[in-house]
Amino acid sequence: MNPQALASPARWLQRFVADVDVPPASDYERWWRDRGQAISDAVDRAGTPHLRMFDAQGRRIDEIQFPPEYWDALARGYEAGLVWRAFAEPRSLLPGFVLGYVTSFFDPGIYCPFTVSLSTAVPLDKYAGEEVKARLLAPMLARSGRCWQGATWMTEARGGSDLGAAVETTACSIGDGTWRLNGDKYFCSNVGAEVALVAARPDGAPAGVRGLGLFAVPRLRGDGTLNHTIRRLKDKIATRSVPTGEVELRDSEGWRLGPEQPGVYLILEALNLSRIANSIGSVALAQRALADALAFGCERVAFGRPIVEHPLLGVQVRERIAALEAASALAWEAARQLDVVWRERPPYSEQYDLFRLMAHLSKYWTAENAVQTARWAIEVFGGAGTLAENRVERWLREAVILAIWEGTPHRQMLDGLEVMERKGAHHLLLERLRAGAEPGAIEDWSLRLERFLAQDRADREASVGPVFHDLALFAGHALAQRVPKLAPKPDHGAAAG
Ligand SMILES: Cc1cc2nc3c(=O)[nH]c(=O)nc-3n(C[C@H](O)[C@H](O)[C@H](O)COP(=O)(O)OP(=O)(O)OC[C@H]3O[C@@H](n4cnc5c(N)ncnc54)[C@H](O)[C@@H]3O)c2cc1C
Repeated sequence: MNPQALASPARWLQRFVADVDVPPASDYERWWRDRGQAISDAVDRAGTPHLRMFDAQGRRIDEIQFPPEYWDALARGYEAGLVWRAFAEPRSLLPGFVLGYVTSFFDPGIYCPFTVSLSTAVPLDKYAGEEVKARLLAPMLARSGRCWQGATWMTEARGGSDLGAAVETTACSIGDGTWRLNGDKYFCSNVGAEVALVAARPDGAPAGVRGLGLFAVPRLRGDGTLNHTIRRLKDKIATRSVPTGEVELRDSEGWRLGPEQPGVYLILEALNLSRIANSIGSVALAQRALADALAFGCERVAFGRPIVEHPLLGVQVRERIAALEAASALAWEAARQLDVVWRERPPYSEQYDLFRLMAHLSKYWTAENAVQTARWAIEVFGGAGTLAENRVERWLREAVILAIWEGTPHRQMLDGLEVMERKGAHHLLLERLRAGAEPGAIEDWSLRLERFLAQDRADREASVGPVFHDLALFAGHALAQRVPKLAPKPDHGAAAG
């Protein structure tokens, strides 16, 4: 293969989304290469930003202090259209995902603010009343770099996987269309955002996940005072270019979204959108780690030749590229499925069920592949890979978080299992994969899944790991068959900036 194909995110994407028109993608990439990467490196090395809780008069302000260049990097992405493009004709999520891919190639963590802003804007657009939209959504869709940001806060101290048991935040209607929320949120990314979507239990609602509602909560009340406060910022191993904090909601003003719908569906819609963005970001991270490893390996000489020319490493490079192609194909197919169904409301179509299964497969496998590729890239660098100054160790720190937030691998497997059990979504998936599959492979998979699903519940859960893993890989490789092939000629000149 030609390693130059890996050095540019926009170029790699041409094989997967050639039909998506994003005018500024290559300018945006140039900006990241020339300026953004250095900002991102500095933010990562600086560690947790400072939380300035009070102003000089002793008033509570909860301001997150990054270097000014950080805000320029964010503004650049918002201006390019990571959020507003989804709301411009022809109403597609794909152009924003392309820009998200380019962003993540340079800084996977900073893609989080854009992702959660989109995952806030979409439910607001679908489920908020006109007054709330005018107040909260319109400033988010401003086409300037100074638009409002969003955030999605579900997790509480007792856990993120079992939201039905863990969410203790309550919401009480005060009769004028607004609600008051009380509780503590434990992992709140993009914590300085102007608007957050918050999972809470309306007074009198039943226990469990079905009793949850989704609320839009602004950062400031009408009188300009804080509507919630930040207890502290999390001191994370990576994704330092998004601030994550703990938030205290105390009689915080909010609006309930889609009260006529089960709130858990709205929560899952927001999460599933973020899972697709996470998949896109994970693939970009894997491409970057691979590009960096290849650039290093083409220059590093051992036993008389560049290390990538040794047979063992050569095989591993080809395997990693094949895995990247499969992960890319899976992520972009899941993104395209979402692009078809993202404006559906409950009750959902069969196509939506297929999207859900693809979202779980894609979130799971792309993040796993990112972790594996980043770990392998460190190995290729040898001792130099363990040094912070060479950046490649950062991709592993970032990848580990991509696998956890928006739901752990276990969560993806169990939710994927549920949509197969209850909706039979695997039948549609297998049909979708037929064109790229070897003869007989679809029938073999059909049989394997039938046998697997025929077990009792505990056995299904216990054995879902390898089935889900193999299915994700099978789907990725089958989908990759339909993607134009890379030029085969080797040329060891790649460098990822
Ligand atoms: C940097 C960062 C930022 C985050 N930002 C946000 C945010 O903005 N908003 C937000 O809402 N959340 C956020 N999260 C929280 C994240 O979504 C949760 O960490 C994640 O969902 C897992 O929840 P938990 O950490 O509480 O683990 P737990 O739910 O306690 O799970 C612990 C372990 O048990 C496993 N497990 C749980 N149930 C089962 C089961 N039935 N079978 C098998 N295994 C199981 C899990 O997979 C996991 O491995 C963030 C997390 C991180 C690390």
